[in-house]
Amino acid sequence: MTPKEALKKYFGYDGFRPYQGELIEEILAGRDVLGVMPTGAGKSLCYQIPALCLPGLTLVVSPLISLMQDQVAALGLSGVSAACLHSAQSEAEQREVFARAFDGGYQLLYVAPERLETAGFRTFCAENPPVLVAVDEAHCISQWGQDFRPSYLRLPALLEGLPVRPRIAAFTATATEVVREDIARLLTLRDPFVLVSGFDRPNLRFGVHATTGPNQKKQALLQYLKEHPGKSGIVYCSTRKTVDEVCALLVERGLSAGRYHAGMDGEERRQMQEDFLYDRISVMVATNAFGMGIDKSNISFVLHFNMPQDLESYYQEAGRAGRDGEPAECLLLYSKQDVRTGEFLISHSREADSELDEEARERVVAQARERLRQMTYYSTTTGCLRAFFLRYFGEDPPRTCGNCSNCLAERTPQDITIEAQKIVSCVYRLRQRGRAIGKRLIADILRGSKSERIQSMGFDGLSTYGIMKDTPRRTIVYLIELLAEEGYLTDTGGEYPVIQLNARSNEVIRERRPVTAILREDLAKEKVKPEPRAPRASREIPEGDSELYRRLAKLRAELANQANVPAYMVFSNATLREIAAQAPHTDAALLEVPGVGEVKLGRYGRAFLNCIAEYEAEKRQGAP
Ligand code: ADP
Ligand code: ZN
Repeated sequence: MTPKEALKKYFGYDGFRPYQGELIEEILAGRDVLGVMPTGAGKSLCYQIPALCLPGLTLVVSPLISLMQDQVAALGLSGVSAACLHSAQSEAEQREVFARAFDGGYQLLYVAPERLETAGFRTFCAENPPVLVAVDEAHCISQWGQDFRPSYLRLPALLEGLPVRPRIAAFTATATEVVREDIARLLTLRDPFVLVSGFDRPNLRFGVHATTGPNQKKQALLQYLKEHPGKSGIVYCSTRKTVDEVCALLVERGLSAGRYHAGMDGEERRQMQEDFLYDRISVMVATNAFGMGIDKSNISFVLHFNMPQDLESYYQEAGRAGRDGEPAECLLLYSKQDVRTGEFLISHSREADSELDEEARERVVAQARERLRQMTYYSTTTGCLRAFFLRYFGEDPPRTCGNCSNCLAERTPQDITIEAQKIVSCVYRLRQRGRAIGKRLIADILRGSKSERIQSMGFDGLSTYGIMKDTPRRTIVYLIELLAEEGYLTDTGGEYPVIQLNARSNEVIRERRPVTAILREDLAKEKVKPEPRAPRASREIPEGDSELYRRLAKLRAELANQANVPAYMVFSNATLREIAAQAPHTDAALLEVPGVGEVKLGRYGRAFLNCIAEYEAEKRQGAP
């Protein structure tokens, strides 16, 4: 099977994202790889596809049990045989997994890093050498990474004990150079193919909302939730106390919210996490203890109630939104206090009082301070937020993105009624004299230019002469262009373009209609920071038929319930919406929808096609 065939068959997608294709090719060619990509970019497929194409077993080392279970369940639904091994399983369960694995029953076997050290696992590997070892969250091997896990360091010894060395594919979202080098060195990668993908996630809208403190933040949060009812999202807070407080507030307001932090007992945490995954609660209020390994794909917003200590953490946490590629929002509620909290945490952090020597400690603390400073700049910049963090991650992005709160704020329409009246009047006066001239000359009249040309034509006698003398010429020219674009004037174009009145010009001078326009950034009269308000979402679910979508979603919920998996694992929202939009009638047509693979077609196709047919029949009957 070729990679593309496997992609279509099991996952229902038509094409790879660019870096996915490259990494997969290199892995299949037998080379070690290191893939550095942001959360949600699609790292899993980079090793799952080779696992399906290569003969033999692929081991996946993954740091979190919940993540493994999630992936195994999702793969199962797509028709891939996979299992996991971790300490939370009983002896009997583990034995069963081993037994099936010995028989070649799995294409992928996920293992928790601490399993690597057990004798049973070593024996298993020696007798069933894997063809590929994928190391997920590979930065866990580095002390410089944010989640150092010493058991990752056992991996090279395990590999050495194998009769044949498998290829190794390491993946991380941590972009720093030191960590990247650590991964390659400590995992003993051989001449690895290293690919660092772009860090932009265009479907995420970033926003910062400046507040004076906790009370305003609570208002902003409630407002946001009011505007996005029923959406699934995470609210990150910096302390357990804040988590408890904010969660209590939401529950008190009748919102469907749960909480998660390390101070809760394990059972309650597990329950909360599951409720969130299964959409039984919409909003999870949590500390940063929540989320690593949560690859719930339909999270539609991540709202930070407090500023994190660095952009690395922020981007990782915010990046949990919109993994399904749907538009999603990442909003940071900032207040000055957050900076003081950050400073406090740094000076009292583990590094600060650990056994590091004086010099090393100072260096670590200085680095943390610098990261906090950058995080603060991000929170207070008036420039493009996306451009800011992409530069921080070493990229060279365009200056504006058009999809962050600053870019959108700069594009707030401004009132240009007065300017419009002056300009249109000038064109009107000219016409009274039987003249039509170009925009630059009009600008000169309005500015009261003393040029010979103006005087010789007698334009200095016009009543509109000099009424915009404080406005730069290029601004007036730009405003004329803008009025023409908006249809209040006509630009004849051609070799000698002139500006003329048209039917709508009267709206400006006779009817005194207010004129607003989105001004080019550098010409905006005053950079108005928007009123502190949560950005509004522009999207609402259904393209296609919303009633049909609702029914399909209900069917999906039932099927998910029967299979005991979260709804998004059956089909993502994007897939569901596409089904509603296309309303396919045949297996072949349904298979065309991105996200519908052969196995899922076999499993769910009938039910969804029936649902569509029933709906259409009802609609026909109901029609007059
Ligand atoms: P990561 O591990 O990098 O955080 P995931 O592997 O969880 O990201 O993938 C994120 C989402 O992108 C998943 O919902 C996955 O199905 C989707 N995805 C990945 N590759 C593709 C592709 N080639 N076409 C369409 N969707 C894809
Ligand atoms: Zn922007």
